[in-house]
Amino acid sequence: MIINTCIKDNYEKVLCQIDEAAKKSGRRAEDIVLIAVSKTVEVDRIKEITSLGVLDLGENRVQEICEKYDSFSKETRWHLIGQLQTNKVKYIIDKVTMIHSVDRIELAQEIQKRAKNTGKIMDVLVEVNVSGEETKSGIEPSKAIDFIGQLSDFPNIRVRGLMTVAPLFTDNNGTRPIFRGLKKLAVDIDNEKIHNVSMDFLSMGMSNDFTVAIEEGSNMIRVGTKLFGKR
Ligand SMILES: *Cc1c(COP(=O)(O)O)cnc(C)c1O
Repeated sequence: MIINTCIKDNYEKVLCQIDEAAKKSGRRAEDIVLIAVSKTVEVDRIKEITSLGVLDLGENRVQEICEKYDSFSKETRWHLIGQLQTNKVKYIIDKVTMIHSVDRIELAQEIQKRAKNTGKIMDVLVEVNVSGEETKSGIEPSKAIDFIGQLSDFPNIRVRGLMTVAPLFTDNNGTRPIFRGLKKLAVDIDNEKIHNVSMDFLSMGMSNDFTVAIEEGSNMIRVGTKLFGKR
């Protein structure tokens, strides 16, 4: 993977690839949300991408969101994409647009409590471990419907879709079934018509696999390296 140091060039390349993959799946580039994953990237370089109109930023550490938060305008949408410890929810509840990594009821309970205190309804995605890798966080696909049923009872939480992190494969034939599996699960969940739950977003696809993810139905991709270079 060749990474240009010029963020604008990288961005244009990524946009081209999004456009191409979206067309392959009968959609338009505008239907895909690009989250620029800004973890470990310094504020000045992140501003290069926000100045191009990319307002969705992804971080996987609570502390980093808190440190960077005040340097960006209120229009910036922060996404918590990494594992979230229950005791840290309070620091980001008023800052993030979406939490992508909800995979256990204790975490949901804490989000409910803090969102209620803040007077907010928190949009979340349920993280699913489609590949079954033991090292991965996320809920088992077979448990997802029950889990989401439980989440639907929390008045200050709104489930908006699913998220997954695919294992690293050397080619797309490994990754594709993972993405296809998450899409199928989202369709199944949608068919359950659970109140307070929508499957508007499928957050899947990173630098090395976002084109395949889009071809398989992703509408929210999380791209770091291909925009900012190697971390
Ligand atoms: C770091 C990270 C990404 C972005 O990874 P790249 O390969 O740099 O695009 C996406 N999603 C999650 C959950 C991450 O932690």
